[in-house]
Amino acid sequence: MQALYPGSFDPLTLGHLDVIERGASLFDQLVVAVLRNPSKNPCFSVEQRLEQIHLATAHLNNVSAAAFDGLTVDFAQDCGSDVILRGLRALSDFEYELQIAHTNKSLAPQLETLFLATATAHSFLSSSVVKEVARFGGSVGHMVPTGVAQDLARLFNQSSRP
Ligand code: ADP
Repeated sequence: MQALYPGSFDPLTLGHLDVIERGASLFDQLVVAVLRNPSKNPCFSVEQRLEQIHLATAHLNNVSAAAFDGLTVDFAQDCGSDVILRGLRALSDFEYELQIAHTNKSLAPQLETLFLATATAHSFLSSSVVKEVARFGGSVGHMVPTGVAQDLARLFNQSSRP
């Protein structure tokens, strides 16, 4: 079975990576899909985010990354995925995720959405928290893969701190 893990990944965090690693052991193939969403005004270009994912998942030979726009269900079907994978951190994620899952089910009944509960160590992590900390010079080495920490340091013009 192939699963699609869609998101903004602006940038990839260790929480995302944990979902990817666990997804990769559950499915034959996992496609990490970066949404091109101009309205979100991202910090990193889609190409940079794909590169971050490639670097961080180099040890996983059944994981690939691709960019997409339009409906997630359309892209899932285009690339032959059976399942949409999403992560859940807290109750606050649940309401939104459930709404999206129901919407996707109404659009493409054959696609299932599967949720992985966050690893407790990563439950506080989000891309926006990471950017906020990095912007003000805080250490993000325990929140993101090494390559992303370097990109954030470059973005905010600081030296990378572990
Ligand atoms: P989106 O903009 O679609 O919410 P994100 O990049 O923020 O995209 O997140 C992609 C998916 O990863 C979402 O399902 C989100 O709930 C999940 N996720 C984000 N951070 C974590 C984390 N720390 N642990 C587990 N899942 C997470």
